[in-house]
Amino acid sequence: MSDKRILVVEDEPSLAEVVSLYLKRAGFQVQVAADGKQAMNILEKQIPDFVILDLMLPEVDGLSLTRWLRDRSNVPIIMVTARREEIDRIAGLEMGADDYVVKPFSPQELVSRVRAVLRRIGREQAGAELERVLSFDTITISSLTRVVTVKGSQVELTAKEFDMLYLLARHPKQVFTRDQLLERVWGGAAYIDPGTVTVHVRRLREKIESDPSSPKHLLTVWGVGYKFEP
Ligand code: CA
Repeated sequence: MSDKRILVVEDEPSLAEVVSLYLKRAGFQVQVAADGKQAMNILEKQIPDFVILDLMLPEVDGLSLTRWLRDRSNVPIIMVTARREEIDRIAGLEMGADDYVVKPFSPQELVSRVRAVLRRIGREQAGAELERVLSFDTITISSLTRVVTVKGSQVELTAKEFDMLYLLARHPKQVFTRDQLLERVWGGAAYIDPGTVTVHVRRLREKIESDPSSPKHLLTVWGVGYKFEP
């Protein structure tokens, strides 16, 4: 169960109702505002943990509301748009929404998106910790500068390659399944091909192993996943 409070700003009562139902079922506390003005009144009293915001709203529209809210808070926002509002949708992201869903959407999909945004923010906050340098015999990995060296020379890693290596190396000998890696490195995005993990492991081996065909650090655990051997 989560004690997180979500404000749903939606002027279609039936949609507001079904979205609230799914969010409540997922353990969130839900409040609904039927237009932009009502949302402002609620937000002026208290900023919730999350806002789901319909773009086309009476009184104050979603974009203006986002702008207004961003002056006050970094609360995560998912914007709900209709297809014809494509251009506004992009503007919405630039204006500070964290993600968007396009109508018609499945309420379950929306719940997954909310969770993904919360996870991403949780990770970003955790990443704001102090610099951590992991050192192994020939490899060093610096958490803040994201610099990896092998035998004293810096190697260039892509963002995801770094995230995966850092995750595995932070938990030496712990086996991660493909699904866990997809979840932790890619945020569980459903459109990512599971083969992506294999490709990233192969590229990482080419960069950090002296003999990529017979790796010493980044090991395959057959039938399960991958682990980092210090
Ligand atoms: Ca609407």
